[in-house]
Amino acid sequence: MKPTIVKIENLVKRYGELVALDHFSLEIKEGEIFGLLGPNGSGKTTTINCLLSLLSYDKGDIEVFGKPMKPTSYDIKREIGVIMQNVAVLDELTVRENIDYFCGLYIRDKAKRKEYVDEAIRFVGLEDFVNFRPQKLSGGLLRRLNIACGIAHKPKLIILDEPTVAVDPQSRNRILEGIQELNRQGATVIYTSHYMEEVEQICTRIAIMDHGRKIAEGTKEELKGMIRNTESVSIEILELPDEIREKIAGLPHVYETGYDGDRLTVRCSGGRHNLIRILGVLQEAGLGFGRVYSELPTLNDVFLEITGTALRDAKGE
Ligand code: ADP
Ligand code: MG
Repeated sequence: MKPTIVKIENLVKRYGELVALDHFSLEIKEGEIFGLLGPNGSGKTTTINCLLSLLSYDKGDIEVFGKPMKPTSYDIKREIGVIMQNVAVLDELTVRENIDYFCGLYIRDKAKRKEYVDEAIRFVGLEDFVNFRPQKLSGGLLRRLNIACGIAHKPKLIILDEPTVAVDPQSRNRILEGIQELNRQGATVIYTSHYMEEVEQICTRIAIMDHGRKIAEGTKEELKGMIRNTESVSIEILELPDEIREKIAGLPHVYETGYDGDRLTVRCSGGRHNLIRILGVLQEAGLGFGRVYSELPTLNDVFLEITGTALRDAKGE
C-alpha cells in the first residue's frame, strides 16, 4: 500500500453566506497525478489554498505527508511546489534570476542550486530566454517560467492550479508532458483544471467537483462506468420525418434522441451494433445523410449525467 500524501476530511469553507466547500474529502496516494476537475467557481482554488494553509477554514482536517497541516508547517511546505493560477514572478528579475530566487528559498548550496536551476530551465524549454524579463515573454512562456519557479527545488508534492488557461497549444503540450515527466521522476501531483480532455489525458485518478462538493471520484474508466451512456452517435441529416426519429428512439439500447434540423444525435446505453442499426433505419427509409460520428463517453458526459448541465456550460456562481 502506497503512503498517503494528502488527506482532506470534511472540509467546509464559507465566504460569508456562500459555502465554497461543502464537506469536501479527498485522499491522494504517493505517485498519483490527481485531477481536480470542475467548472469555474466549483471550489478548486479554495481547496488548494486550504490545503496549503494559506486560507483558514470553518471545519475539517487536513494532513500532508501524514502530519497535520498548519500555517507554520514549514517542514511540510518546503516539500511542496506550488504553481498558482495567477502567475507570480518578479518583474525586475530575468528568467534565470527568477528561478534562482524561488529555488534559493529552499536550496542554500550554490553549486547544487545552479544545477537545479539549469535543470528547471531545460525542463520547461526556456533555454533561449534565460536573460529575458517576464514582460517580454508570451503568455505560454510566462506560464512555463511560473512552473519552473515552482518545481526547481524538486518538491515531493507538486500542485498546479489551472496551469494551461490561455496558453498556446505548443506550451500546453509541453506543460502536460512536463507534468508526466515530473511524476515519472517520483513527484506526486495535484492538477486542477476545467478542461476535461487534459485531465483525462494525464490524471491517474480524478475527483469531479461542483458547487464545492465532490460529485464523483475514480479513474477515468471508473467514472465513465458510473453512467448510463456508452456511445453517442451523431449523423448529419437534412430531413428527418418524425416517424423515422421515433423508430430510432425505439431501437434497443437507445435512451435519448435529439434533432436540430441538420444533425441527429442518439445516445445509447450498452449494446454493440448501435450505429449499424441506426443507419439501417435511415437506409430503409431511403433517407440520405452526411457525415457520421460515433463517440465514446467523455468526462463531460459523466458531469452531464450527474449534474444535468454540461461541464462547459456550468457556472458555479
Ligand atoms: P474554482 O477555482 O473552481 O474556479 P474557487 O475556489 O475560486 O473556484 O471559488 C469557489 C467559490 O468561492 C466561487 O463561488 C467563488 O466566487 C467564491 N470565492 C472565491 N474566493 C472568494 C473570496 N475571496 N471571497 C468571496 N467569495 C470567494
Ligand atoms: Mg480556480
